[in-house]
Amino acid sequence: MKSAEIREKFLRFFESKGHTIVASSPLVPANDPTLLFTNSGMVQFKDVFLGKEQRPYRRATSAQRSVRAGGKHNDLENVGYTARHHTFFEMLGNFSFGDYFKREAIAYAWELLTRVYALPPEKLWVTVYQEDDEAYRIWADEIGVPPERIVRIGDNKGARYASDNFWQMADTGPCGPCSEIFYDHGPAVAGGPPGSPDEDGDRYIEIWNLVFMQFDRDEAGVLTPLPHPCVDTGMGMERLAAVLQHVHSNYEIDLFQDLIRAAARETGCADLASPSLRVIADHIRACAFLVVDGVIPGNEGRGYVLRRIIRRALRHGYKLGQKKPFFHRLVADLDATMGDAYPELRAVRARVADVLAHEEERFGETLEHGMAILEADLASGIRTLDGETAFKLYDTFGFPLDLTADVCRERGVSVDDAGFEAAMQRQREQARAAGKFKAGGTLAYEGVRTEFIGYDALSGDARVAALYVGG
Ligand code: ATP
Ligand code: MG
Ligand code: MG
Ligand code: MG
Repeated sequence: MKSAEIREKFLRFFESKGHTIVASSPLVPANDPTLLFTNSGMVQFKDVFLGKEQRPYRRATSAQRSVRAGGKHNDLENVGYTARHHTFFEMLGNFSFGDYFKREAIAYAWELLTRVYALPPEKLWVTVYQEDDEAYRIWADEIGVPPERIVRIGDNKGARYASDNFWQMADTGPCGPCSEIFYDHGPAVAGGPPGSPDEDGDRYIEIWNLVFMQFDRDEAGVLTPLPHPCVDTGMGMERLAAVLQHVHSNYEIDLFQDLIRAAARETGCADLASPSLRVIADHIRACAFLVVDGVIPGNEGRGYVLRRIIRRALRHGYKLGQKKPFFHRLVADLDATMGDAYPELRAVRARVADVLAHEEERFGETLEHGMAILEADLASGIRTLDGETAFKLYDTFGFPLDLTADVCRERGVSVDDAGFEAAMQRQREQARAAGKFKAGGTLAYEGVRTEFIGYDALSGDARVAALYVGG
């Protein structure tokens, strides 16, 4: 089953269960300055859950474009290292605004997975929050999942990515237990079942999270039951596609294979399993859609996250031997694979390619010099890259710290983050003393701003200018 069909079947299934199909919202959240990017399907419904906004429906379903890079949810460091993480992915979700609750949410999920997508039930594992006897009982008694495949999970705070089956929007407000569905990719892949010490592997992959918003938490931490509990679910479309296409890694699904082939064509890399090609295929999706949604590479906030992702992609191209601009050409390939589902991409495709091409030209000049310096250091057998060098790469050659760390990590070398911060701080103080900073004391140099105003003139897009100047 192709990705497009998987997405369509999900939405139609929930439509048949009385849900209204709601379009994906943009990656820049409309009314939430605290959130860097839309990172799940519930973001556009936040005020509906909080009761601050009314909609003409109480059941909704969506395929939501999501980004988890920078901010609280950051999967950037996982890309290229796990089979299941992307910076950009599509989250398929169904939502109940005070309408149905656990029983229906669980029954719908099971029916969709085992009947519509015809997954073998014995490959599915479920987790419930340790105290959530209600969800446990529904899975065990009503659905008939054998107890050996139902795992009770606690808060698990502190573990790297370990299942945390209690969800909360913020420190106070709506919260509740969740129940997650995992797919067992079989013994050929390393990793233990959810909740076990080696769950970090990629054998049992979490595909769907069902969140049951049940309580309101107050400042003192006291939980009061909500009068109208809600449901918020999210399933990674690419993870489901991997299961349905009988491949283990998300990067082997149809949609990614098209992009990986395109990246291979543009970089001249013959090894289609190269992690660098995977990173580039991942990053073109995030970068293109961020530009579609109005983000422009810059030195602060969202713009800086975008810049970091672009530069990481370019560095991987460089690693494969491509020293000329190539990344922007993948926008056409992305449009071919995703433009039908996302007309907003097709509509501004040329501008997106321009924005990326500009950033490529900019960084192309310094990437090679910076890499030469970094390579020389790495060749000398260091275990830790000193903060001064990392800062020089950042300041003079435009290497974001995470890019430098990415190169070092490939060679088993760490970076002295504290040394980097110290060098940065020293430079800030020097610049302040020399009066070079703008009033307001942000990191934005006058020069950067001028450069971007010139750039806007180049693209001729007033909206972009407004966004940039606003930070
Ligand atoms: P994981 O534990 O694998 O990092 P998660 O628990 O952080 O996933 P949720 O926040 O529960 O993920 O999001 C709901 C669903 O979205 C997940 O079950 C998964 O299918 C998908 N998903 C989450 N993060 C990613 C990602 N970085 N790339 C692709 N799909 C993702
Ligand atoms: Mg995660
Ligand atoms: Mg998880
Ligand atoms: Mg989860």
